[in-house]
Amino acid sequence: MPTALVLGAGMAGVGIALQLLRRGWSVTLVDRKLPGLETSYGNAGIIQAEAVEPYPMPRDLAAMAAIALGRTNDVHYEWRALFDQGRALFGYWRHSAPRGHGRITPAYAALIRQATSEHQQFITLAGADALIRRDGFRVLHRSGAGMDKDVAQAERLKSAYGVAFRAMTPDELRGAEPALAEAGAGAVHWLEPWTVSDPGALVQAYADYFCRAGGRFASGEAGSLQSAGSGWRVDADGGRVEAEHAVVALGPWSPEALRPLGYRIPMVRKRGYHRHYKAPRPLELPLMDAAHGYVLAPMARGMRITTGAHLARTDLPSGQLQVAEAAARDLIALGAAVEANPWSGTRPCMPDMLPVIGPAPRHRGLWLHFGHGHQGFTLGPATGRLLAEMMTGAAPFTDPAPYSAARF
Ligand SMILES: Cc1cc2nc3c(=O)[nH]c(=O)nc-3n(C[C@H](O)[C@H](O)[C@H](O)COP(=O)(O)OP(=O)(O)OC[C@H]3O[C@@H](n4cnc5c(N)ncnc54)[C@H](O)[C@@H]3O)c2cc1C
Repeated sequence: MPTALVLGAGMAGVGIALQLLRRGWSVTLVDRKLPGLETSYGNAGIIQAEAVEPYPMPRDLAAMAAIALGRTNDVHYEWRALFDQGRALFGYWRHSAPRGHGRITPAYAALIRQATSEHQQFITLAGADALIRRDGFRVLHRSGAGMDKDVAQAERLKSAYGVAFRAMTPDELRGAEPALAEAGAGAVHWLEPWTVSDPGALVQAYADYFCRAGGRFASGEAGSLQSAGSGWRVDADGGRVEAEHAVVALGPWSPEALRPLGYRIPMVRKRGYHRHYKAPRPLELPLMDAAHGYVLAPMARGMRITTGAHLARTDLPSGQLQVAEAAARDLIALGAAVEANPWSGTRPCMPDMLPVIGPAPRHRGLWLHFGHGHQGFTLGPATGRLLAEMMTGAAPFTDPAPYSAARF
């Protein structure tokens, strides 16, 4: 029976671990924490079936000026972080040009299209249906111009990819969401995404099933990874774990873990924040407030506000959560905060917006599965399937070439 070590137990690591286990491999999942406690815990919990185009960097002058002058809540930055991440950010900017973005999109869409069906298989196996809603999410617009622009964009995606949406008037939005005090110019309702009431609990449920089905979880440090004979080994609490194959699925920590092996992989790190609120009457479905760049999602712990991107070098928070909270209080009775301090985590974004899926170019038996950016919670099981197909020598469901690490 082939053996594998999977380093990192977020959605990406659990995704590949479970896909390999289902193909008859002996798999050990290794993390320094319990599964699903980092980025895969703190996100907005949307399985984004509508996100067929990756998230580009704004390139028009007005949007760039708004970011530079701190006039948008979508993106905040520290100057020094721009220097630290210069190479990766320049690549992201270059690939965000319409021609580059157009070239990347088919490869991104191929993964997104597989996302809900792969999650569904995991959900059934894990008995996790109680965490899932299949009614989509909405994007609220405060201005008619913003609404018109988003509807035109949605129409384009509908005709290009068949993505389903409904444009809602303010009255329709108020009818669907009685907790809203303000319905702006209406909303775009994306109909196909699924939403999760506790993202960390979904990863944990998948990991629990993995263990029940014969996989092993070990507490260990990825930094101890070393080649051993024809395979790999890592130090874990219960002793050394060895396997023929190792998979690096360490989310935003992946490039650092690969440095000792000689890989210099650029990554854009977009920090995000969240906090829960004890709203007496929660929303029915997650709502993105487009004008203020945050998502308000009904979750098990309360209404969760998740923020946009912060390019940061220090641990200092950006102020995005305060702006989002003030804007959300116009929309609903938010109530008091649940936690004393906000959570923060980092979206692991590759310069060309495509995740890294495939063999490490210079090490036999070492495989890479990271860089899922804005949609790793969506994509982990689907990209896990693609990597498992490559590792087992099966026919891949889509051409894996665009995701190869050899591009860096
Ligand atoms: C605010 C915010 C909102 C988001 N909203 C969404 C959304 O709605 N939908 C969506 O699809 N995506 C969303 N995302 C993106 C998504 O959360 C990430 O892409 C995804 O969680 C990345 O998963 P991962 O498994 O690669 O990384 P992680 O979940 O971070 O997992 C990496 C694991 O590696 C472990 N690890 C790290 N270093 C070591 C080490 N040295 N030794 C051992 N273990 C180690 C960590 O403990 C962790 O468990 C959002 C992200 C943010 C920040």
